Amino acid sequence: MASEQLPSTMKAFVLEQFGQPYQLREVPLPEIEHQDDILIRVEAGSYCHTDAVVAAGTMHPPSLPHIGCHEYAGTVVALPQGKSSIYGLIVGTQVAVSGRGYHVCEKCQECRNPSGPVPDEPGFSVYCPWTHGGLGVHGPGGFREYAVVDSKQVLPIPGSMTAVEVAPLMCAGLTIFAALKKCNLKPGQRVGFIGCGGGLGHLGLQFATKMGLKAVGVDSSPGALQFARDLGTGAYIVNAAETKAEDVRQQLGQEDKAEHISEMGLDAVLILTDSQQSFTYGVDLLRNGGLAIVVSFPPEGFQVSAADLVFRRIRLEGTLIGSNKAMKEMLEFCVEHGVKARVKTYSFLRLNQLVEAYHSGVSGKLVVDFQKND
Ligand SMILES: [Zn+2]
Ligand SMILES: [Zn+2]
Repeated sequence: MASEQLPSTMKAFVLEQFGQPYQLREVPLPEIEHQDDILIRVEAGSYCHTDAVVAAGTMHPPSLPHIGCHEYAGTVVALPQGKSSIYGLIVGTQVAVSGRGYHVCEKCQECRNPSGPVPDEPGFSVYCPWTHGGLGVHGPGGFREYAVVDSKQVLPIPGSMTAVEVAPLMCAGLTIFAALKKCNLKPGQRVGFIGCGGGLGHLGLQFATKMGLKAVGVDSSPGALQFARDLGTGAYIVNAAETKAEDVRQQLGQEDKAEHISEMGLDAVLILTDSQQSFTYGVDLLRNGGLAIVVSFPPEGFQVSAADLVFRRIRLEGTLIGSNKAMKEMLEFCVEHGVKARVKTYSFLRLNQLVEAYHSGVSGKLVVDFQKND
């Protein structure tokens, strides 16, 4: 039931060939075909590393043509026939969309017992094997004027936040927030971000320091290091190209008045980059018994030192985006503590310029602002 006159067609940026720029096409408006679905007018769409991977055709290859973007935000313009509200959402509600689990089955082991650091009620699961995948990765996402999304994967945007502010939090923000929750650290404990100058890392430094943790950011390119320093979080920023992991541990150990190297270092480390070198550096920063959380997932995987697991009690876990509950907690945390993604915005028609900027290494999150006209 639409409250406004909707057009029959719309503009969409479509991936028609892997490795090629998106093509601007006039396509039919998507239709609501499922009882949980809602139609939104997209207002902001953020670009994620996974968009680049999908466009290159190297991971999760969707069927072509494909519409990317799995972190976006917009306003509800239509609900399923005969419904005036769904999960509290009505026409006019501004919602944030996370690209995870489109139409989870609600019946499988994962859906009946949702797992994760902030698990949802039964009926939702980040890990449902029967889901139709993530919108923007397996199905069509937010680089279009209107999108059909699952009402179970969205949340209302807090009044004080804009669509452009919220969109980059829907993959990057949620992933790093849930990963931090998984570390289960107490204020004063130490956490490291390997790849601190990227989209996830720069949000992680903000979340961690606002949680009262002692954050260490690690990166190796001068631009990424400067970007991380300029956030002003008070995190200790390390240039991995110049400083050995053991030296960092020694230095932290002195501050902590630790007497043996096994007690020196970080309590947890989040691996946000793809290289083996950075994975090893991250694990080498941990004190004995420390936890490494794997967030990135290079196709070739990581090599793990059995000796680290056996003799140093290093623990290893992975994490995948986050639940609706984690999403709600994260947005509330952002409002309370002023956590914001550093964004650079582009008009919708300049999406391919945004992609070029991404590949040239522009720092922060690059976001399409549908209100922008240039
Ligand atoms: Zn993503
Ligand atoms: Zn399921």
